[in-house]
Amino acid sequence: MAWNPTQTTLVNLRNAIAASQTTSVQIVQQYLDRIERYNPQLNAFTQIFADQALQRAQRIDTGDLAGPLAGIPIAIKDNMCTPYGRTTCSSRILENFAAPYTATAVEKLEAAGAIVLGKTNLDEFAMGSSTEHSAFGTTRNPWSTDHVPGGSSGGSAVAVAADLAPGALGSDTGGSIRQPAALCGVVGLKPTYGRVSRYGLVAFASSLDQIGPFAHTVGDVALLLEVLCGPDPLDSTSVDAPAGPFHANLDQPVDGLRLGLPNQYLSDANHPSVAGAIDEAVEVFRGLGAQIVEVDLPHTEYGIATYYIVATAEASSNLARYDGVRYGRRADDTADMIDLYCRSRSQGFGDEVKRRIMLGTYALSSGYYDAYYLRALKVRRLIKQDFDGAFEKFDAILCPTSTGPAFKIGEKTSNPLAMYLNDIYTATANLAGIPGISIPAGHTKSHNGDPKLPVSIQFLGPLFGEARLLRIARMYEAATNHHLARPELAQAD
Ligand code: GLN
Repeated sequence: MAWNPTQTTLVNLRNAIAASQTTSVQIVQQYLDRIERYNPQLNAFTQIFADQALQRAQRIDTGDLAGPLAGIPIAIKDNMCTPYGRTTCSSRILENFAAPYTATAVEKLEAAGAIVLGKTNLDEFAMGSSTEHSAFGTTRNPWSTDHVPGGSSGGSAVAVAADLAPGALGSDTGGSIRQPAALCGVVGLKPTYGRVSRYGLVAFASSLDQIGPFAHTVGDVALLLEVLCGPDPLDSTSVDAPAGPFHANLDQPVDGLRLGLPNQYLSDANHPSVAGAIDEAVEVFRGLGAQIVEVDLPHTEYGIATYYIVATAEASSNLARYDGVRYGRRADDTADMIDLYCRSRSQGFGDEVKRRIMLGTYALSSGYYDAYYLRALKVRRLIKQDFDGAFEKFDAILCPTSTGPAFKIGEKTSNPLAMYLNDIYTATANLAGIPGISIPAGHTKSHNGDPKLPVSIQFLGPLFGEARLLRIARMYEAATNHHLARPELAQAD
């Protein structure tokens, strides 16, 4: 099999289709076969558009549709609107919601010739770090199906990690692209806030949400970002910043590279494999002539508290629209309008979403607004100033994506605080709006029957600094082989 999904990259496939060395129909069929075989054990996809995908592939092969992603199958997180299928956010309340329009990011991918294979599982409304809070069952980590894939874009991360798609879209509000990418051993990029249009992304926390790509290599995500980015009249927060090129100059190392290593991210609480990955990355970059210096980001310790006030406050407001009248699920036999709202929302939302709505409503309520929400906004500014100061001296910050590798399914579901602490190294980038990328950096040692699990590192860069950030990530990738590792999946008939 010349273009074996488990040994190739999105860019290779794109080039092979463009050079007529293979066809889009063949590629799409290979991925559909793998989905049929492995999705039942992984639950990465909740909807699969097999016929539609093959039909589109045929049109690409006959030269009907061209573009930089012509013929490439992609998986979409199911919180982005598509005019086909359902847009459920893995919630009962939107189980039957057929979106009347298409998310700009999806539209841009399709205009570039990409083919949507299906929609992927997530924590309900993107609230979570493990994909366990889904109304449609837990997604499993392909490196060990007893472990979580991370979240909330767990389905998209697993789709790529298990080679059920060569690339995928996720959304990142506090880490939901980078953390599952880290736990599944793939590359995940959260672009600068405003880089990619949020039109058609179901809102969780509007000042933090950002769409971004997953793939196996830095080159693949660079190509996807090039297609996704750009201003959109339908999202007033999208920004007209230079759109790369992100892919063309990727192999040019950054001269005189200066990396900051934040003290606050090198805690003793990190798993030894995470500390080891950072030490190795420091060696790699020193070997490449980079200067690496410790840096202080003193407000990091307030990151989680600030994030969980801002994010829940915005969520409580955004989710007010699901009233059982205009959207989705509607409770039967209700006495009056208030009863209809209460019962529709009680039945439609899961526990974690309810917890967030209550927390956010509390933080915004009169008498508490100044003490919680307003104060959180002030701390958010201080967190941003920490980064501004760091980027005056450094090209990027090198740090872990998560404190440890994937945890066991069920380990943290009864302890929301432990679950929230997962976001400690990712949420501050959303608060500051800056871009971040997580890339594979090896594996845990497998001993005493413990499975070998992916470990990753993260680079954070200044606002709209994706071009350089990607080149820095590529320097590390080119010097190591970690991105080539693929999980061994249990054989299914
Ligand atoms: N894990 C974080 C949360 O639960 C981030 C989620 C996200 O980025 N969508 O809110």
